Amino acid sequence: MSSVLFWGAVASVRVGILASIAAQVAHPFVVDFATSLGSDEMTAFFGLCFSVHTAMVILGSVFFWVLDTFGLLQQYKLRRDPATPENAPGLMGRAMLFIAAYHMILRFAICRVLWALWPYPSFDGPSPDFSRLFPHFVVTYWASELFKYVFHYVQHEVTWLRWMHRPHHEFVQSQAAASEYSDMAELSVFTVLSFLHTVQLHPVVHLVTIVWKVSENLEVHSGYCFRGSWLNRLGLLHSARTEMHDFHHTHPGSRGPYGKPLLFDYIFHTADDWVTFLAKEGRDPMLSRVMQSEKCSMG
Ligand SMILES: [Zn+2]
Ligand SMILES: [Zn+2]
Repeated sequence: MSSVLFWGAVASVRVGILASIAAQVAHPFVVDFATSLGSDEMTAFFGLCFSVHTAMVILGSVFFWVLDTFGLLQQYKLRRDPATPENAPGLMGRAMLFIAAYHMILRFAICRVLWALWPYPSFDGPSPDFSRLFPHFVVTYWASELFKYVFHYVQHEVTWLRWMHRPHHEFVQSQAAASEYSDMAELSVFTVLSFLHTVQLHPVVHLVTIVWKVSENLEVHSGYCFRGSWLNRLGLLHSARTEMHDFHHTHPGSRGPYGKPLLFDYIFHTADDWVTFLAKEGRDPMLSRVMQSEKCSMG
């Protein structure tokens, strides 16, 4: 348990530092952009947010598709049991169309309405300093991971809620295009949540959180585990989460894991099947998460 807590603390410090730096660097550019397009700066801002969001998902999905198609970086590809079925033909294209439509229309509308209802700070204020950004990102990181764990847990364990998560698991092989593909009801819950917990400090925090979450989610669903690469050694990638979530997609008969950090699954024993799976390969889940020399899962 102590090592789970220790590496959880390391992850939250990493998010706090990287996201705070990103928010301070992005602040002047985002403010310039939003205020240069006319009087309705928030419409311009949310247009920017969801254009970035959609572009990242589409470019990220195409990037990993190119790796698959042309056999690039295959030393990082998670190996799969040949018995695992392939994803349905056309699923990737359908997912990307859905994602573009959802984020550019419905998500934009939800956030614009919330903004009109909520008295949040405008762009006029200065960028929050590090001493405010860091605790904000650390607290919201754990709050959102806990909420997502509980939400994912009930979507699998409560029979009458399973419909909500079913589209996401059409991807039996995890693939980057799955990262933001789910039922509109599920996505809308997260849209409202992410709005409420990210814009309190300054709108730029909302954009930084989108970039962080989308890049993590793309990698986690990519089917590529970059453990041992220099980017992962620098703490910029998420190989441990990728491997764990890939197991969740490719082993539908197993229970969990439902979270991205190990902490909540560890406490509530929803990572037991995952731990047993690793043990068969002679691996320890904590060592596998932190040792760059550890190989990724054989699938
Ligand atoms: Zn699931
Ligand atoms: Zn998933």
